[in-house]
Amino acid sequence: MRMYANFINGESIENESVSNINPSDTNDVIGNYARGNEQNVKDAVECAKHAFLLWSKSGLLDRHTVLKKTSEEIINRKEELGKLLAREEGKTLAEGVGEVTRAAQIFDFFAGEVLRLMGESIPSIRPNIHVEITREPLGVVGIITPWNFPIAIPAWKIAPALCYGNTIVFKPAELTPGCAWELVDIINRSGLPKGVLNLVMGKGSVVGQAILENENINAITFTGSIETGKLIANACAKHMRKYQLEMGGKNPLVILDDADLDKAVDCAINGAFFSTGQRCTASSRLIVTEGIYDKFIEAMLEGTKKLVIDNALKEGTHIGPVINDTQLQQDLEYIKVGREEGAKLLFGGERLNRESPGYYFQPALFTECNNNMRICREEIFGPVASVIKVKNYEEALHVANDTTFGLSSGICTSSLKYSTDFKKNSIAGMVMVNLPTAGVDFHVPFGGRKNSSLGSREQGKYASEFYTNIKTSYISH
Ligand code: ADP
Repeated sequence: MRMYANFINGESIENESVSNINPSDTNDVIGNYARGNEQNVKDAVECAKHAFLLWSKSGLLDRHTVLKKTSEEIINRKEELGKLLAREEGKTLAEGVGEVTRAAQIFDFFAGEVLRLMGESIPSIRPNIHVEITREPLGVVGIITPWNFPIAIPAWKIAPALCYGNTIVFKPAELTPGCAWELVDIINRSGLPKGVLNLVMGKGSVVGQAILENENINAITFTGSIETGKLIANACAKHMRKYQLEMGGKNPLVILDDADLDKAVDCAINGAFFSTGQRCTASSRLIVTEGIYDKFIEAMLEGTKKLVIDNALKEGTHIGPVINDTQLQQDLEYIKVGREEGAKLLFGGERLNRESPGYYFQPALFTECNNNMRICREEIFGPVASVIKVKNYEEALHVANDTTFGLSSGICTSSLKYSTDFKKNSIAGMVMVNLPTAGVDFHVPFGGRKNSSLGSREQGKYASEFYTNIKTSYISH
């Protein structure tokens, strides 16, 4: 079995290792991946700090070339990498290839951004004085990522970090080191000086914790759970450093009487169940007005029953397995909780057996839910949709906003009045009209409000707000 090592200062570093298991087939071991320690983090930060002296002053064309070459290699290998992604994470092959393509597009976007770095030059309020506003890199950025988008999330953090001249210590999720390793390998072969991008795989409680505690890390960008997000915010407050947190969601999809029924069902099925519901933008609350309710439930049930749940690599699979047994048990536990709270489990919610041993779960449709139930308040992170019946648009909006999260929200309606009002009054970072709550572009800001996000936005040109410091210079002539 191949051993995949950590990568520090341009060198492979041997550690103890752990097997990466395919959730569609637990007999399939993808490889053995290093499990790093505190010393690895210390070494990686030292190297990144040293490399910053050079990389922060690097020529724009050098940075452009690294990002461009990375994008090209990813796109040339999209089938192979998409297969690896589907194999280690469990999303379908089509979803895997789609995510890899997106990672390539992100690198391509930031290859362009390097050549668009801008400052401002403005007159002072004082005579014969000029003011310049410029952006400078932060230094060493700690990047901590989750397993559900194992190449896109690392890409949307690493690409802007490099673009704006930062160096990196990258810790991917324990469950999906495969894509992270390949990505780092690709970037490091694209002409990046050694020490600029360092990979330390391993446990959150060891490697992640060591990143939080290291005083030479200048900023941390994180995507994951709220609990870990809070630890990061506290650690960053202690060290007075910048941070950016992307956490959970309990995203509402409102379906009004005047919605196009087929479109609404497509949005709901895609948003709630695709990628096995393991997306922070998943539509986990379906808020449906009375007039369309019965028709919607009937069509939703029919659509849900048609979904093929099977091995992620098998042709024809719509929904792959859950990532691992812990997550599967959590999904099953929430099915129990929902029933005990009085919701009606209309369909699904049980473990499935398939040809290969894996963590298969039938997407679940709960009806007769109210917004105070735990299944409507807590992020399940699985293919579980809770339908809440409401009287009218006003009640729908109230229920949609009655949550501690605020990442994404959606509305299906043919009314300009209601869609305009929803755009304005939905308390969320991203609003979708006649679209699923999940599925976003790579060139525009991504992020939310309340417990979903903290810090400035990710992606698109807005990424520069996190990855740079602003300097204001005054010049007297
Ligand atoms: P999830 O439930 O999606 O796995 P986590 O917040 O547990 O969310 O994990 C997201 C990332 O944070 C992973 O890379 C994980 O290893 C890391 N992580 C977990 N615990 C800690 C911690 N105490 N300090 C730093 N990073 C951590």
